[in-house]
Amino acid sequence: MTNIVGIDLGTTFSAISRVEEAGKPKIVPNKDGKNITPSVVEFLDDGNVLVGDEAKKSIGYNDENIVQEVKRSMGEDVTYEHFGKTHTPITISSMILKKLKQDFEAVYGEITSVVVTVPANFTNEAREATKKAAELAGLKLEHTINEPTAAALAYALQSESNLNGKYAIYDLGGGTFDCTIATIKDKNIDVETSEGVNKLGGKDFDEKITEIVSSKFKEATGQDLNPKEFTPNDAEDIKISLSSKDKAKARVAGQVLDVTREEFEAATSTLISKAEMSVEAALRNVGIDASGIEDVILVGGSTRMPMVVESLKKMFGKEPKLFGNPDESVALGASIYAAHNTDSEDLNPLQRQQMQNFSLTEAAPFYFGTIYHDTDLGKERVRNIINKDEKIPCEFSDNFVTRHDNQTQVDCSVTQAGADIDDPAMVKVIWDGLLDLPAGRPAGQQITITYGYKEDGTMTCSFLDVASGSVRDIDLTIGSDGGKPLEDDFDPDAFQVD
Ligand code: AMP
Repeated sequence: MTNIVGIDLGTTFSAISRVEEAGKPKIVPNKDGKNITPSVVEFLDDGNVLVGDEAKKSIGYNDENIVQEVKRSMGEDVTYEHFGKTHTPITISSMILKKLKQDFEAVYGEITSVVVTVPANFTNEAREATKKAAELAGLKLEHTINEPTAAALAYALQSESNLNGKYAIYDLGGGTFDCTIATIKDKNIDVETSEGVNKLGGKDFDEKITEIVSSKFKEATGQDLNPKEFTPNDAEDIKISLSSKDKAKARVAGQVLDVTREEFEAATSTLISKAEMSVEAALRNVGIDASGIEDVILVGGSTRMPMVVESLKKMFGKEPKLFGNPDESVALGASIYAAHNTDSEDLNPLQRQQMQNFSLTEAAPFYFGTIYHDTDLGKERVRNIINKDEKIPCEFSDNFVTRHDNQTQVDCSVTQAGADIDDPAMVKVIWDGLLDLPAGRPAGQQITITYGYKEDGTMTCSFLDVASGSVRDIDLTIGSDGGKPLEDDFDPDAFQVD
């Protein structure tokens, strides 16, 4: 049996979907029967780890042995020490993926093909880190897909009506926010742009609840709130209640404190404004105003908050669309994409039929450039080679020349930025190195730089000395800078994940 699977590896919750024999995607519950699994890992003193609901229940009680929200640190140099072992966001993510894989395979057998989702605004490093986590979890991951794109795919394939126009996908999950604009015509999806905030999600709203409760508790008792008596899970419960009620009760150390939706909305208005600014930036990128959007599609559990719907109604003048469960559509779309990338002979006729007649084009998530010396200005500048929102796959080249006679090396760099910036201090250098040149040549030798961005989200870069044919091809994957990644010492089988 082919098991074509999509995984939404979320900041706070993860989900797994499978394309059924009839060709439709369906969420596969974990072994506790839940459609979503908290992305929380708890280390136990016997060397094993708990992932999911059990680990989440320990938040506030065993925090020193709990790791959560690692997605916010993917691609960063962060480590966590537990029981004498060093972990990274990659190894922790691999444990979450392993739990999803294990629960899935206990019912359906081995996963044959898988796509894992990433936020549209994930950096190259964070994308690579996700791939590495999948590999450590024993998943053969060939593709990642951007979360809002996966949701758009699920929407387009499951929509009863004929879609035609530009759609905004508003994705506010547990930790990240993305707004993607895509042109959808029936089942053809063309991503135009994405803007987002990499650290904005349900967790930030939970923290505001804790702030409100903490100040009310202080007012009532004169004491500071003990985090063990009001945990982040308690804050989340109150937040969720406020999505359907005007008032919720916080019970802390014998005190009953009322929190109103009005208070919560006032405390979180800046968070909503941040999301609104990203939506406006996305509209600007595409050169349209809100009236040019056919429908706004809600994705992510945090879009259940009434203030999100209000904000969108105000911006777009119409009710945003909710289809299915907002925290499941990303995983559903990912499994559709996995089927789309599976050899058609591995699909049954029904699955093949479902996968026909749809196409997907992604857009480059950043500007990718290089730093060069501008002789007119007498200073270093950035020249972009791939522009943000360029259709993927793409390949672009640009020519530069050597500056000095007898120059035997060129400094090469790959930069990444969210905006079209030419100041090297304002961009992120994601790779730098040297290209060796033959000695004894005059200045003005042509160096051609070529960047490619592939459908699977990987980037290739090459720096070519045209006259000698000397070339520096760069693989922008983890550890390619020669450093030994910590994850190389990680033995996934050494941890029993439950
Ligand atoms: P996701 O990653 O899409 O599963 O979204 C998870 C986030 O959605 C978490 O921060 C949840 O607390 C939040 N969430 C789920 N349901 C609700 C709700 N009814 N009201 C407010 N937030 C919610």
